[in-house]
Parts: sequence; structure tokens; C-alpha cells
Amino acid sequence: MKQAKYDVVIIGAGLGGLTAGAVLVTAGFKVLVAEKVSFVGGRCGTLEYKGFHLPTGAIWLSEEVHGDLARAVGAEFNLRVIDPPYYFRIGGKDYPAPIAGIFRTMFGYASKDEGEIVRVMKAFKRGIAWQEPSMNMSVYDWLRQYTDNEAIAGIIRAFVAMDTGLNHFELPAGEFFKFVKETSFVKRGGFLAQGGGTLTQALAKVIRDKGSDIWTRCQATQIMVRDGVAVGVRVRKDDMEDIEVSATAIACNAGPKTAVELAGKENFGEGYMKDIAKIKAAPQMIIYVESEESLTDNKGMFMWPEARRVFCALDYTGICPEVSPPGKTLLEACSYLTNSEQPYDLKSEVELSIQDLKDNIPDFDKRAKILKIICYHNQYGLMRVWAGQPFDIKTPVENLYLACDSAAPHGWWGSSAAVRSGRLTAEEIARRFKPSVAKA
Ligand SMILES: Cc1cc2nc3c(=O)[nH]c(=O)nc-3n(C[C@H](O)[C@H](O)[C@H](O)COP(=O)(O)OP(=O)(O)OC[C@H]3O[C@@H](n4cnc5c(N)ncnc54)[C@H](O)[C@@H]3O)c2cc1C
Repeated sequence: MKQAKYDVVIIGAGLGGLTAGAVLVTAGFKVLVAEKVSFVGGRCGTLEYKGFHLPTGAIWLSEEVHGDLARAVGAEFNLRVIDPPYYFRIGGKDYPAPIAGIFRTMFGYASKDEGEIVRVMKAFKRGIAWQEPSMNMSVYDWLRQYTDNEAIAGIIRAFVAMDTGLNHFELPAGEFFKFVKETSFVKRGGFLAQGGGTLTQALAKVIRDKGSDIWTRCQATQIMVRDGVAVGVRVRKDDMEDIEVSATAIACNAGPKTAVELAGKENFGEGYMKDIAKIKAAPQMIIYVESEESLTDNKGMFMWPEARRVFCALDYTGICPEVSPPGKTLLEACSYLTNSEQPYDLKSEVELSIQDLKDNIPDFDKRAKILKIICYHNQYGLMRVWAGQPFDIKTPVENLYLACDSAAPHGWWGSSAAVRSGRLTAEEIARRFKPSVAKA
């Protein structure tokens, strides 16, 4: 079998894998990123469809997390910051939500009872400044201790669904508060010219420009383990050529389940396998809608906390005209499902989402056309593992790391988790090993 040698092999060219790769090449390591499909980016990519540039997942990114990474590795990053970050539709009216004091402001639109708002905000502040609520109760149950106002619950529900793909009755309350605390430094969010793919392509360019390699259509088929230590990866390139690549460290961007499948479950131990058995992915349905004119009154992100399924409508073209062909606009409607655990009835979930679009966009049938509907779930869910159940970047197999959205500290979700995980893994590898002059 053909042989190759790198300092580090990364399995997967999603955001977590490319983050780890870009940080490692910047530190002088020779890296191979092996990606099984023909494009880079995974759930943070962009694909062409009928003249539109459709995101494969993440669109909303931030200056503080994604921009900071790009600056650290010299990748291009020109974020179009959205201000105000959201409009919330309550009682048929769109209210702008400022980033500072967003919950206080939104609860003020949802309730006329000042005593209720003060009670909820006090509990909120206590959860942040004093003690986080339990991981054994949901955000919804936590909130119900202070109010039964469903409009306030709807606001929290929309936030939770947006960032985790979960319902508010599924996310642990403690995890929600960790998120509020951990990511309170994020103030400037927005879109890149052609979605998340603009960032992952820029990171891939850094990796290639610094002399390392990304092989697409190249599936990892085995992680080679000797005496409990990962020593390399077998890959199949272009569906025909098998190559054995040895490396000092391996980072799996394809998630903990794939890491176990590739390295063999006998190497992981009982406790780890119990955690793997508990994995549940968080789904999200996206309806891509085309029209000739914008379907929204303002530009940006519109939260619909009172709708049945659609919690957010993104006016994508309003912020990034580049994503649509001339004379067309693209709106992305994001929906949660009744339950995040299968089985779910996708047909009725789609029907409820379409009904929401009709109720919230005047003359929807005349003005708009559904371009595509995708339910992202299982390994391609919004998150591969439910928020609140993260894995460590280190696995029981020595020198085998994870670099993906399911291996970041508590409170880190979605693409920010993928970046955090990729950076932590790369920093740990750079701390433990020296770059060699290994050549493929
Ligand atoms: C519809 C949707 C909307 C989202 N919106 C947002 C948003 O607006 N903001 C946000 O922050 N987050 C968002 N997210 C979440 C975010 O996209 C993900 O959390 C993040 O992109 C995950 O990155 P990752 O690198 O961990 O995994 P992935 O992107 O899944 O990358 C894993 C890669 O590994 C490859 N792979 C798998 N197996 C193998 C193998 N055997 N060999 C080689 N390669 C392999 C896959 O092909 C893939 O490219 C969204 C997600 C979805 C689905």
C-alpha cells in the first residue's frame, strides 16, 4: 500500500478540522486534511443550486470568535455585521432587539406586567452572577418557576432553537446559563459574502498556501492504533487508491462516533462507549424560499417566537446580495421539530412550517416559491451531539483528538464550538509536539 507521512492528520474538512489545520500550519506543522466529500466546509460550506449559493449549515458568525480565528491565522474575513441583530415579531409587530440588554428589552415587549419582568430578570441575574441552575431541569421548567407567560417562553424557545437546534424543554437550564456567561463577549454577529463557506474556503487557502495538503474525495477508513496510541490513518482517495498515512497526532473532525468506528471500539473503554451510546443529534429544518422582491420589511434576522415551527426567517439576500442570481432574493426559514428525538413525522413538520410562512408573509403563495426543503439531522444535524453533553478534545486513545462542535467546553454551541474545539486541539498538539520537516 502507498505510504505517506505528516505531522498531523485531520479527518474532515469541516470548520473544526480546518480551524485545527490552519492553527497548526501557522505553528509550522505539516498537516494533511482528508475530506470524504468533494467540497470543504462540511456544515459550514456553500453549494451552488439553481444559481443560488446555498449554505450547507452555518451562516451567522461573529467577529469575536470567527474573526479572531481568521486574524490569528491570516485568513480573509469581512463580516457584514447585522445591527440590530434581530427583530422579534410579537403580536404581529416586528420589534428591534438590541444586543445590550436584549432579554430585558424583549420581555418588555412580551409582558405588560412590570412585576413579572423584574421577577424573571432577577432570577436570570442570579443564574449568571451567583449559581447556575441545575443540569437536571430544562430551561422551560426553570422559567416556569417565575412566570407562565408563554410569550416570554417563546422568546427563550427561539433563542435556544437558533443556537442548539433543541426545544427549550430539551436543553438543560445549567447549559443555557453557561452559554449566556461563556459567550457574553460576543457582540458583533453577521454574515459573510457567501455564507459560512467563505470562511472555510479562506481557512483551506491558509493551509494550502503554507505548504500543507487538503485531499477531498478522500475518506478515512481506519485510524491505526498500536498499544493504545494512534499512529496514523488509512484513507481511500477518489474511491480507488488506498494510502497509509503515518502521523504523530490525529484530530477527528467527523465526531466522536466516527472516531470510535474508525479506531475500533475495543480501544475506548466502557465509560467512553456508554457516553457514545447516549449521543443524540439535534435536528433543524431549513426551507429555502426564492422571490423576486424581498419578503421582509427590514433587512436581517426575524425571530417569530409565536409561530408553530419557524422560529427565524433570515433575509439572506438583504445582507448578502451575492447569494442570489440577478433579480432574485433568498430567504431562509429555520424550524425546530416537535421533538428533537426520532421518530418525528417530517411531512407534518414541513406542513406546519409552510403554514407559518403563509401566516407571516403577506401573499406568500403569489410572491414566493419554495426552492428547497432540507431537514438536517443525524450526523448532519445542527449539532452532532445535543448541547449540554460535550465530549473532551482528548479521547481514550493517546494522540487521538477531536476537533468538532461536539468537543468544546460547556456553553459553546454550533460553529463557535467547532472553532473553539479546533483551536484547543491544535494548541494542545503544538504544546506536546514539535513540528518536523516530514514530507508526504
Ligand atoms: C442548517 C444548519 C444551520 C446552522 N446555522 C448555524 C449558524 O448560523 N451559526 C452557527 O454558529 N452554527 C450554525 N450551525 C451549526 C454549525 O454549522 C456546526 O456546528 C459546525 O459547522 C460543525 O462543524 P464541524 O467541523 O464540527 O463538523 P462538520 O461541518 O460536520 O465537518 C465534519 C466533516 O468531516 C467529514 N467526514 C466525515 N466522515 C469522514 C471520513 N470518514 N473521512 C473524511 N472526512 C469525513 C464530513 O464530510 C465533514 O466535511 C448550523 C447547522 C446546520 C445544520
